[in-house]
Amino acid sequence: MPYEDVTTHEWERTALYLAVGMLLIVTGAIFLFAISRIIGAILWFALIAVVLVALVSWHTKTYAYRCKQCGEEFEISRVTNFVSPQGVGKDGAWKYLRCPRCDKHERAEVLKKVKP
Ligand SMILES: [Zn+2]
Repeated sequence: MPYEDVTTHEWERTALYLAVGMLLIVTGAIFLFAISRIIGAILWFALIAVVLVALVSWHTKTYAYRCKQCGEEFEISRVTNFVSPQGVGKDGAWKYLRCPRCDKHERAEVLKKVKP
């Protein structure tokens, strides 16, 4: 699958999805805790899990990574995506990953998968 660099528009969309996810969790807490403290708490944790899984799944399907050492472009699993540290530096966004080709742990560049 071909990849392309991530545009500012893409980052805005990612930020929007994150904001919607947070909003769902916060409003969910208000409504659920109003119903019942114990059942509300259980349902709220379930809601957090659903929101997180949905966001991570979407992010995993949308983005790929490029190794800065050897240029290898690769995709990662949802679990790896969830546990790997991610940040933004002066060269753009990065994610701390192990490259499948050169086996180095480093900050990989984020790419967008081009939909066929
Ligand atoms: Zn590499």
